[in-house]
Amino acid sequence: MTTTAPRQNVRLRLACDGCSAAKVKCDKKHPACDGCTNNQLECTYSASR
Ligand SMILES: [Zn+2]
Ligand SMILES: [Zn+2]
Repeated sequence: MTTTAPRQNVRLRLACDGCSAAKVKCDKKHPACDGCTNNQLECTYSASR
């Protein structure tokens, strides 16, 4: 018997707000990614849909 539990790690977004706005790749570091750190932005992830 195979127990294949659906483990879907649903991420909110691919990039944080700052990277999304700047259209750059987000490395998703915590507490703030490099993109936000460089731009001195607050790294936030808005849950859209
Ligand atoms: Zn980012
Ligand atoms: Zn960020």
